[in-house]
Amino acid sequence: MLTSLLDLRPSAVRNGRRLAAVRDRRVRGLVAAAYRDVAFYRRAFDAAGVRPEQIRGVADLERLPVVEKSDLRAAELTDRLARWARPERLISHHTSGSTGEPFQILRTRYEEYLLQAYQHRSNVLNGLRRKDARAYDVGMGFDPRWIHRWGVLPAFAVDPVNDAEGTIAEIRRRKPAAFITRPNTLHHAAQAIERAGGLGHQLRFVLSGGEVLEPSVRRYAEHIFGCPVVDLYGAHEVALIAFECARCRGYHVLDDSVVVEVLDGDRPVAPGEVGDAVVTALHSYAMPFIRYRLRDRIRRPVDPPPCEWAFQTIEQPQGRRLDPLRLSDGTSVPAHRLMHAVRELEGVARYQVRQEQPDLLHIPYVALPQASGGLGAEIEAALRAYVPASVALRVEEVDDLPFNKAGKHVTVLGYDRLRKE
Ligand SMILES: [Zn+2]
Repeated sequence: MLTSLLDLRPSAVRNGRRLAAVRDRRVRGLVAAAYRDVAFYRRAFDAAGVRPEQIRGVADLERLPVVEKSDLRAAELTDRLARWARPERLISHHTSGSTGEPFQILRTRYEEYLLQAYQHRSNVLNGLRRKDARAYDVGMGFDPRWIHRWGVLPAFAVDPVNDAEGTIAEIRRRKPAAFITRPNTLHHAAQAIERAGGLGHQLRFVLSGGEVLEPSVRRYAEHIFGCPVVDLYGAHEVALIAFECARCRGYHVLDDSVVVEVLDGDRPVAPGEVGDAVVTALHSYAMPFIRYRLRDRIRRPVDPPPCEWAFQTIEQPQGRRLDPLRLSDGTSVPAHRLMHAVRELEGVARYQVRQEQPDLLHIPYVALPQASGGLGAEIEAALRAYVPASVALRVEEVDDLPFNKAGKHVTVLGYDRLRKE
């Protein structure tokens, strides 16, 4: 326990060899414990014919099977939990996921604190100081009172979605250094601040996590807040995975907390190629996640930017793998192409692609204040490059786009999914 905390010192992440040794040691410990204590992993490793002692470090992980979320969903909760774990004493996180089925993630209080400490360290590496107050968006699903009770960090919660005015007032009163929020909420908050004629307090940075940070939202928020927006990439199963580095602008993987592989199916892909993020949570023993496939699409850079921190680097994650939109003639349009086409357009704050009929796409969008009057036509032209002429496009400027029940903004909604909603 103490060694875990000592490894959190910034000095510990300047030395790549030391970091690699820490990772290997943690992989060994985790795999051995999962085999000993967790029925799901014992069965999976046995079925793959692998003994835990054959896994000596990160390089051996590829001998273990990749675990899909559907595999874990199909297992009994008790089979996914260490036999020593008592569910009623664990901290629970729920994810809804794209299918809407809840999925429960449990951690011990110590595991939870430790993961929060790693998140805090990433902020420290980016220049946040110990005494700096921070404002947390309640929608981050994170309760700053834990840290508060610990007496370590001054933090308070704000609710920009339901109470933008209150959020502004609270930030003015308590003068935090950082505001920690989600991209969609960030956009809401920035609009409210613009209406209020400014925040009236200079933040040092805004931290954004939980969803893909669109370049357009980042530009708008940096303009309104007058400070950098630093992006965080995480998943409920493993907490923070990578943080955007204020020095080199790469996304550093928290190598001493999570192992990230980039796979196409079961095959590792080369730098520059996009693949699924497959993660191993090095500190989760109560409910392990070992070679667990997230639906996020990520890529390692061919030339990682040089940096003082010895972490590995990925490029900005591009979000979940999306199902293609099926057209009436049996062909399909890749959803991620449509996203890429729109997200880079300067004036777009938020947008949605809704396949309301098999051959009709409705694209409501919210424009940034500085957007040109021809933005709708630009969006249509950008999309048309990927959409055949047989498909009608209806591009429409709107004042606001609703969040879904999970409080998220879904960018591309296919016909099948829309009908279910
Ligand atoms: Zn860096």
